Amino acid sequence: MKLHAEVLTLKTKHPFIIARGGASEYRTVFVRLVDADGTEGWGEAAATPYYGETAETVLAVLERVRPILEAADPWQIDVTEAAINRSIGRNPAAKVAVSMALWDLVGKRTGQPLWKLWGLDPAASPASSFTIAIPATLDDLRARVREAVAAGYPVLKVKLGSDRDEQIIRTVRETAPGALLRVDANCAWTPRRALAMIPLLADLGVEFVEQPLEPWDLDGLRFVRERSALPIVADESCLMASDVPKLAGIVDGVNLKLAKCASLGEARKLITVARAHGMLVMAGCMIESSLAITAAAHLAPLLDYVDLDGAALLAADPFRGATITNGVVTLPTTPGLGVTRA
Ligand code: MG
Repeated sequence: MKLHAEVLTLKTKHPFIIARGGASEYRTVFVRLVDADGTEGWGEAAATPYYGETAETVLAVLERVRPILEAADPWQIDVTEAAINRSIGRNPAAKVAVSMALWDLVGKRTGQPLWKLWGLDPAASPASSFTIAIPATLDDLRARVREAVAAGYPVLKVKLGSDRDEQIIRTVRETAPGALLRVDANCAWTPRRALAMIPLLADLGVEFVEQPLEPWDLDGLRFVRERSALPIVADESCLMASDVPKLAGIVDGVNLKLAKCASLGEARKLITVARAHGMLVMAGCMIESSLAITAAAHLAPLLDYVDLDGAALLAADPFRGATITNGVVTLPTTPGLGVTRA
């Protein structure tokens, strides 16, 4: 297989600000694997500096694994991914872009969409949420919430973790009285702050709280969960399947993201391990195009919650694939990932 990589700049409609900062421009890497007969598998690396990656590190990793891919049997995905993992540690966004491309190739060769190869029922996908980032002003917040409601999103995921949390969540609830609300504090709270916020969130009908505390604070997460009226879901604390057992009994669920877990096979393993521990599983995303979103969407039938709005937050999406209308995720029926250029 020949490897091609191209950096794409994605611009968000609105600045995407969370507890640890944010931006309006994100650089992802579009990966193409071209087989001897010209069949192409596609993938996207949504490099996230928080997890130690940039577009440049992705390009460097791809150069390093190029000889492995050039010599690889495109059917032997596990063998190829194991060779890549022996060659280089972490760098999950770079690796998962290759994994997406390998699976896309297999789907195209067999003429089947990934969900069908995996034996899944696309109608079983839960509704996707739409993220409301931390706003500059409450007027901005009202405008964005109205925009999301007008676009038909039934579930809003509200980013908290600033000194305006109470105002923000009350304003969202007033502006969208009928929406299902979820909250993500992105590691910004202390256990005391979390326990002060959760009763208010429960009163306002919030469904669950994502990553209230620092990722390493498992004792704190257990302390909060034991006193919380709402389920707690770990995101930054859970990167790969091997992180799940230590979170069992400490949180209620985990948030899977392809750009954290390095391969589609690993993502399916993470889901299986979480299920074995009786935990809820959601899938989230980075700011990424419909290419990476569609790869994650193929897993949606296996999940309790999905938050796959990364492409919906963009001013312009370079790809077309899975669609989300009124929160309903519709998977492509074309082979592989089922993604085309927009
Ligand atoms: Mg999160």
